[in-house]
Amino acid sequence: MRSKGYAATKAKDRLAPYSFERREPREHDVVIDIKYCGICHSDIHQTRDEWSDYQEESIFPMVPGHEIAGVVTAVGGKVTKHKVGDKVGVGCYVDSCRTCAECQRGLEQYCSVLTVWTYNGRDQEGAPTCGGYSDRIVVDENYVLRMPNDLPLDACAPLLCAGITLYSPLRHWKAGPGKRVAILGLGGLGHVGVKLAHALGAEVTALSQSLKKQADGKRLGADHFYATSDPATFTKLAGSLDLIISTVSAQVDWNQYLSLLRVDGTMVVVGLPEKDIPIAAFSLTARRRSLAGSQIGGIGETQEMLDFCSQNGVACDIEVVPIQKVNEAYERVLKSDVRYRFVIDMASLAKD
Ligand code: NAP
Ligand code: ZN
Ligand code: ZN
Repeated sequence: MRSKGYAATKAKDRLAPYSFERREPREHDVVIDIKYCGICHSDIHQTRDEWSDYQEESIFPMVPGHEIAGVVTAVGGKVTKHKVGDKVGVGCYVDSCRTCAECQRGLEQYCSVLTVWTYNGRDQEGAPTCGGYSDRIVVDENYVLRMPNDLPLDACAPLLCAGITLYSPLRHWKAGPGKRVAILGLGGLGHVGVKLAHALGAEVTALSQSLKKQADGKRLGADHFYATSDPATFTKLAGSLDLIISTVSAQVDWNQYLSLLRVDGTMVVVGLPEKDIPIAAFSLTARRRSLAGSQIGGIGETQEMLDFCSQNGVACDIEVVPIQKVNEAYERVLKSDVRYRFVIDMASLAKD
């Protein structure tokens, strides 16, 4: 089926209108009319091919977008989980092998055979996948999420990547009452991380480059707010935190942040800088500290996160933009000039 969207035709190109084919729906497929799609920093990394040191070459033309919120317009004959008219979402992947040990445990994002990424990936037949900066998408029902009915759909779209990427490590490392949790970097991921950590009952510290976002940080649920450009922050907080989640997209000195952990504390990296960051053994041994990483979350856990957000009134702070402004939006994300996530209003596609 014919689809239209925006694509980068080669690495670092500006995104421009692009037409392509989606598969005809199969018996377990859901056809989704895309209403909104969040702009994740990963879209920028990938359209600029910044992860080439760590993964296969990017596939162009690339239609990015993995924070997809929309409405079901058709379902295949065997679909039982969703029906026409439902508000649904699609996150960072649209399929996995379903049989390996990881898939069986609900860790489809770590499938040991093939996680089919929503874009810049290949499906089970080897065809390139196209993401959510487009009018519609066809996805197997098992990889489609139910969106909160009581919260605005546009503000929930970024939960599908930013939300689950923070919720999963917060739950895995048991953020909750009595735990001192810091969120490093207050962008798309970080701002929802502050909201989620607060809703889980943790004592939350926001760590940002400057104090510009301080008032927002408190409003989002941070108990404390510090600027990482101020060396005094590192003496004040030394050895005090249980959990740090780094959402920073650039190379920063992780050793400095590890020094803020108390005994048995963990720093979880979710931000994905372009280049390696060296770690001193002493940063870890001093207080039996751990350095860990985490990647989005499983389908079941993503649904749990959406239900948690629905119950706790957690949605994202967004700036809605027409798709024609996507290249300007990328530039603003790179300058940390977004409060706090851009979301594309897909109705604007009709204007091209
Ligand atoms: P974003 O909106 O650009 O936020 C990143 C934040 O990091 C910025 O707002 C800024 O916060 C801070 N930052 C940026 N440059 C910095 C620098 N040079 N030094 C110190 N701090 C800096 O990006 P995002 O969409 O939240 O994504 C963040 C990262 O996570 C990206 O690398 C993305 O690819 C990755 N990601 C990973 C996963 C996963 O599953 N692991 C999922 C989604 C995204 P302040 O202004 O507060 O300093
Ligand atoms: Zn993302
Ligand atoms: Zn698998």
